[in-house]
Amino acid sequence: MPPNRFSRGPGPAQEPIYETHQHAPKRCPYPKCGELGRRKRTRTRTVRHLAHKRLAFWKVLTGVYAAACTCFLDLLKNRFSS
Ligand SMILES: [Zn+2]
Repeated sequence: MPPNRFSRGPGPAQEPIYETHQHAPKRCPYPKCGELGRRKRTRTRTVRHLAHKRLAFWKVLTGVYAAACTCFLDLLKNRFSS
C-alpha cells in the first residue's frame, strides 16, 4: 500500500481494517410501489470507512433485485426501446 496520511507519523504502519457486512435478503421491495422483487444475484463492493488513525474498509455484500410488477416492466421496456 502506498504511503498516505494514515501511514505517516510515529509508530509502525498499521494494516487497514477489513469488515464484512451483509445485507442481501431474498426479497426486497421495489422503491416506487413497494412490490417485492426477487434477488437475481449478489455483488460485493468495497466501501471506505472510518477508524481511528487508520484505514478501514467494509466489504459489503448487496443484492441485485428485479420486481415483476407492471411499473418495473414498463421501466425496462422504456429503457430498451429507444
Ligand atoms: Zn411496481
